[in-house]
Amino acid sequence: MRRRIAPSVALALAGALACRGGSGGGGGDGGPAAVTACGAATDCGGALVCVDGSCVDRAPPAPSCTPPSRPSISLGPPMTASEPVTCTTPVRSSVHPGTQLLGELRVGQEAEFQVPEGSWSVTIVSQEVAASAPDEIQLDGFPIPNSVVPAEVRAPDGRVYYDELASVPEDGDGYPDFTRLLGYYGGFTPTSGALTIPNTTPGLDLARSAGGLPAGTWRLTVNDYAYECQSMSGCTGGGGSGRYDVRVITRPGPIASTGTLDLDVYVASLELTAAQAARDPNMDRLFQRVASALGNAGLCLGRVVLHDLPEWARQRYASVNIDSTGPCDPLSQLFTLAEAQTPSIHLFLVDELTVTEGDTQFQIVGIDGSIPGPSGVPGTVNGGAVVTLGDLGQGRCGSAPDVAGCGTDRLAYIVAHEASHWLGLYHTTERSGTLFDPLADTATCACAACAPPSERARCADRNTDPSQEPTPMIGSYCADDARTCAGASNLMFWLLDDARSNGSLTPEQAEVMRLNPAVR
Ligand SMILES: [Zn+2]
Repeated sequence: MRRRIAPSVALALAGALACRGGSGGGGGDGGPAAVTACGAATDCGGALVCVDGSCVDRAPPAPSCTPPSRPSISLGPPMTASEPVTCTTPVRSSVHPGTQLLGELRVGQEAEFQVPEGSWSVTIVSQEVAASAPDEIQLDGFPIPNSVVPAEVRAPDGRVYYDELASVPEDGDGYPDFTRLLGYYGGFTPTSGALTIPNTTPGLDLARSAGGLPAGTWRLTVNDYAYECQSMSGCTGGGGSGRYDVRVITRPGPIASTGTLDLDVYVASLELTAAQAARDPNMDRLFQRVASALGNAGLCLGRVVLHDLPEWARQRYASVNIDSTGPCDPLSQLFTLAEAQTPSIHLFLVDELTVTEGDTQFQIVGIDGSIPGPSGVPGTVNGGAVVTLGDLGQGRCGSAPDVAGCGTDRLAYIVAHEASHWLGLYHTTERSGTLFDPLADTATCACAACAPPSERARCADRNTDPSQEPTPMIGSYCADDARTCAGASNLMFWLLDDARSNGSLTPEQAEVMRLNPAVR
């Protein structure tokens, strides 16, 4: 997530936030109603959804969670890994009982796995074996990380829930519209990647309406971008050498409107130890605010466990350079130290993230290793989220949440944003305004339609002058109350906007988060 360094533009709408309450409730009129049978949300109408064949306003809550929760913060065991002498890209085990090991498979190979009756999601974790695949390929002269993702994930009924080669429809502005696909993957996961489905509007509706995914024997085809590159024009550096350890985690139902999430937190700081953090009242406020933000998705924040890293790692990673984030770069190597054997989100607190080639307008305040994170397979090169401690305890903090004035609240917002990436959410609108998440109930803010007319020639898809930065879709361009030219308030907008960010989430965003196997 980025933050605007000069937020002057962002202060104009301060009063408008007060009238945007939480997400709307169900559409009932209070009277007794007959249950309507359904096969999809379109059979129900209004704000109702189809859950397991019946129209309802929401799935029943999980009995163990009523958000917002009060998280428990404790000191956990320190990490003890010794300092590696070279780049390490470990293949990790799953902590989930019942994880299916599909073995070590070559790209192009097909494999089968089982989905038990009543399963709510499938997560496929692929980890490169023995440095067998190139780290990147060149597409039209640009380097692209050699991401690993199955080419096809097929249910027993023949339906393809994820199709790497699917043709993507376009929206009215000519931008890709992923909201009509059954599954979506955003890339940027070389060496190790996870795919959790369903994660799009049609995929969620299908699974929700049927009360789960089709049970039985599913198939996938092992694949990475280098393998696809061989048959693409303009692509060089491809090949079929990649071998991956593939594991499948199925998340049991029933589909619920609440769930509990735990955090393992690793402290890579020269200013703060895990023991000090566990006693710090600012940490209390921080995770209470994170719990409030996650409560918007029906999530309870349960256990927050703080860990020290080994002394060598504190020295090496308190300041992390993120000019490059490949598998052997500092960020990915830091993430391999997430060795707490839990199915939680693994969050790293560092003193600073540094860049040497600079964006002078926006500062990166948090990064996630991959979307989604490899829940239940801790310690891979993409298995972490990182935020900087600089804001903790800074500014003026009253009793109300205040991302503009209270540094701890701002940090909590960033933690909640990165945690939501881990749970599978993409930015509702990317910086360019040409790419949007695969959920139809989130607002979009297209550059071609929402940037001021004088800026539209510099939209990323039209900009012909490489010396010009493409137009960034800042909050003031995306502040309408409608479904278009909106979304600046959403937790997953690409930019933290001091005046507009209020952490809102839509029902579909919340559903994606809750079906991640990190949620219990
Ligand atoms: Zn982000």
